[in-house]
Amino acid sequence: MTKFSDLGLNPLLMKAIAEEGYETPTPIQAQAIPLLLEDKDLLGIAQTGTGKTAAFALPTLDFMLEFPQKRRARSARVLVLAPTRELAGQIADSFRTYSRHMDCNVQTVFGGVNINAQRRALQGGADVLVATPGRLLDLVGQKAVSLQEVEVLILDEADQMLDMGFIHDLKKIVAQVPKDRQTLLFSATMPKLISDLAQQFLDNPVRVSVTPPSTTAERVDQGVYHVSNNDKLELLFDVLNNPEIDRALVFTRTKHGADKVVRKLLAKGLDAKAIHGNKSQPQRLKALDAFKNGTCKVLVATDIAARGIDIDGISHVVNFEVPNVPEQYVHRIGRTARAGRTGLAVSFVAEDERYYLRDIEKTIGMEVDVLKAPDGTKVDLLPTPDPNERLYKPKGPARGNGGGRSGGGGRGGQRRPQAKAKPQGGAGKPGGKQGGRSRGGKKRKLEGARG
Ligand code: AMP
Repeated sequence: MTKFSDLGLNPLLMKAIAEEGYETPTPIQAQAIPLLLEDKDLLGIAQTGTGKTAAFALPTLDFMLEFPQKRRARSARVLVLAPTRELAGQIADSFRTYSRHMDCNVQTVFGGVNINAQRRALQGGADVLVATPGRLLDLVGQKAVSLQEVEVLILDEADQMLDMGFIHDLKKIVAQVPKDRQTLLFSATMPKLISDLAQQFLDNPVRVSVTPPSTTAERVDQGVYHVSNNDKLELLFDVLNNPEIDRALVFTRTKHGADKVVRKLLAKGLDAKAIHGNKSQPQRLKALDAFKNGTCKVLVATDIAARGIDIDGISHVVNFEVPNVPEQYVHRIGRTARAGRTGLAVSFVAEDERYYLRDIEKTIGMEVDVLKAPDGTKVDLLPTPDPNERLYKPKGPARGNGGGRSGGGGRGGQRRPQAKAKPQGGAGKPGGKQGGRSRGGKKRKLEGARG
């Protein structure tokens, strides 16, 4: 098994890793870090919970330690793009944690909050800038930040960014970043659109893939309740009213649904908070904080809002509605199984959701156990369906997708032609990398630095 000491990371980073209590690199870290230390471009197929943030943050910080550079006003050396403000905040926190023994200025910019404070924060420049695409383009448009000095570009949860309609924004951003950068793209899934994007943005990338969906699924204890839609709220209260629950994350399909669940739980005396796209940033942060510090043990979220949220010790995930996309299910239940821990995930399956449950079972390669009614409940569960029953895909709008943004995110503006330079065997891109950090790139600036 690979050890952190095998990876050749700077001692200042090793110290921070040890303080975090990390003992061994996760598979994505063991695979990706050595490649990234060699300046390779990387296409990482990994979902949240695999340790992918450290997999890209550690080698990036290592590079900054090895090649320190004076911060330039309104510039950034490392640019990380993420789909949501929550994820951007978490990535920034990870960079701050791992860089605590070095001088590294980490800034975050995202929409939904006043832009002026972000403009001011960028005046002195950042070493690492973590951004959601729309707000970053606004700031670039206002000349609050330039992307000309970016040496490492990281796109995290690229599939989610596409789902949210950020494709044009991404292309505009990438067009402004120097071509001889190092580029990393992480995505939980690899639809054709992502591999096309990777082809455009990355230069001869190495591909690293970890945790196929079933692996997470195997680590989580899972169960289903067959219950009518009308009885779900009642059942939820009975399920959550269990002293064994430390922290439960409840998924609803819609923002409205999340609010309704919270109202119902509060009315019954169970403290719960909702996070979703209609909540203001301070409201979201407040809800997350309460959940993190344990004052509120139930958080109700839509998929988009919950994606990427990294909170330790989620003991239970409740799928109040069954997602219609099996991967979404795997993402959801993965919240309880972060970095090797296990948890319990229960799903409320109404009659019109049985088709989706079967789809999920096919994907994860196992049947999910049917659970007995919780003690004391007055809800009459539905009889366990016949496994041979013929099921049809429900008609109507897709369920369970959490209401992603569609279209181009409402941004106007000219679309820039995207032309990522491919190696021509010419200057700055030696056909074969000579090992170590000799490649152009993060690169051209550093050429010769290592001889
Ligand atoms: P991520 O997939 O980056 O969101 O990371 C998921 C969680 O795993 C975070 O809470 C990290 O702090 C934690 N983590 C990352 N790497 C390791 C490691 N090597 N050992 C233990 N925990 C880790």
